[in-house]
Amino acid sequence: MKTMEEVLKDWEAVIGLEVHCELTKLETKMFCGCKLEFGAEPNTHTCPVCLGLPGALPVPNRAAIQSIVLAGLATNCDIEKHTMFYRKGYMYPDMAKNFQTTQGPKAFCMRGHLDLAVDGRGAQERLFWKDLATGEQSENMTRTDDGYIAHVGITRIHMEEDAGKMIHIGGDDGRIAGATHSLVDYNRAGTPLIELVTEPDLRTPEEARLFMQKLRQIFLTLGISDCSMEEGSLRADGNISLRRRGSKEFGTKTELKNINSFKSLHDGLAYEICRQAEVLEEGGQIYQETRHWDPSKKHTIVMRVKETADDYRMFPDPDLAPYDLSDEFIDRVRDMLPELPDQRAARYERDFGLSAYDARHLVEHRYIIDFFEAACEAAGAAAKDLAKPLANLALNDISAYVNAGEGIDFSQSALTPARGVELVSLVAEDAISSKQAKEVFAAVLEEDKDPQVIVEERGMKQVSDTGAIEAVIDEVLAANPDKVEQYKGGKTGLIGFFVGQCMKAMKGQGNPKLINELLA
Ligand code: ADP
Ligand code: MG
Ligand code: ZN
Repeated sequence: MKTMEEVLKDWEAVIGLEVHCELTKLETKMFCGCKLEFGAEPNTHTCPVCLGLPGALPVPNRAAIQSIVLAGLATNCDIEKHTMFYRKGYMYPDMAKNFQTTQGPKAFCMRGHLDLAVDGRGAQERLFWKDLATGEQSENMTRTDDGYIAHVGITRIHMEEDAGKMIHIGGDDGRIAGATHSLVDYNRAGTPLIELVTEPDLRTPEEARLFMQKLRQIFLTLGISDCSMEEGSLRADGNISLRRRGSKEFGTKTELKNINSFKSLHDGLAYEICRQAEVLEEGGQIYQETRHWDPSKKHTIVMRVKETADDYRMFPDPDLAPYDLSDEFIDRVRDMLPELPDQRAARYERDFGLSAYDARHLVEHRYIIDFFEAACEAAGAAAKDLAKPLANLALNDISAYVNAGEGIDFSQSALTPARGVELVSLVAEDAISSKQAKEVFAAVLEEDKDPQVIVEERGMKQVSDTGAIEAVIDEVLAANPDKVEQYKGGKTGLIGFFVGQCMKAMKGQGNPKLINELLA
């Protein structure tokens, strides 16, 4: 198979996502009073309604409707005031009612959009953005200094309910194939679920991944779900097709079902791009089918060919009255909206003079936000000057530290926000070099001491005494007469060599800025 890079020269990928999010923060299920609890003893949270017993009548959960309206407002959707619940018929043991209650053509939230900032290596997956000038727009992308913004349409967000959970016994890896029997746990049946559907506006696996991450940040900020991809409270289906570059028509799509990590979403779509290209280039045909991405085998396999909408026999649920949202209700929900990630990033740019790049990466993770905000608060009047080094500390050292370990809760670490401020202040005052700061960072985490104490204990004070530095420079120059000649002959790149030799002679404690200046 060709690599994705090769394929994308001739083909353009068209991607649309369907994202399911369980409203785990609610107390009760969508249409009954059963408690929502992950990991409870099987079948302990059930009742006649969520078991679909004859005569049981559903009542919509008002708090769930509030959550979906929050989600819609936060993703720039129009809120539909008059909508209905529908029955989507299917027979499978995980849904005792034999239908799922969902929404019809009109959902609570319609016609939204999100902007995705794509930069760095991820931006390389989309071709041609470099041909645009900064600020210029082409199709649904706008060029920025270091990448581009993708404008992604959201078709709708509708309210539905989750099914129960099947457990297959006796087969391989808990799959149904080869199982001797299956168990069903209805605790999850009837869990309030929102499904967001995007327009086919995404063009690369990286954009799909970023969209999911951004949506997760928004939902976490709204507090409507714990958005755990491992536990399945946030999952995505990736729809993907290819078309020849320059063609306006969409190709036939396949759908990757129930993707449960950001990496799988990216890698599964990337694989599908390569697979579809191979089929099409060999003159074959793509079938509209559902496929499963296997992260360990690194390929997709077909699950089933596409059912059509008719198969579900959707019709308005006669047990649920049409739903009317009042303007007052919508306004009250609007007033509940917290500061969203994009707004927070804009505030960081405005108040701390950070670059757009730093600001948008700072708001990607809760632990980074918490650290950065507490550190700026602790820095007081110095916050404006220290914001940039604090941002670097958070985005480079802290995130590397957290990503290197598993399940690290940074808020419990020895590097408190106040110590973070102390560390960047030591560098700002030229007391230690930024290289030494890395050592102090590691030592604070290891030894649970203040940065100042570590600097003193290890005698790490940076030498900024010009006399002492000049003496070392003289020695270094005297020891390398040939290199000095070459430098004078125009090999000015050798300055790095001399700085390195001086640093070595000073055991890493020389002030590199001063050494550079004095050497030159
Ligand atoms: P279906 O009827 O198969 O569920 P929908 O029209 O409801 O298809 O779209 C489902 C998802 O697939 C949406 O996110 C949409 O943007 C995306 N999609 C639709 N057509 C294509 C296509 N040709 N290629 C890629 N994605 C597509
Ligand atoms: Mg669909
Ligand atoms: Zn129930």
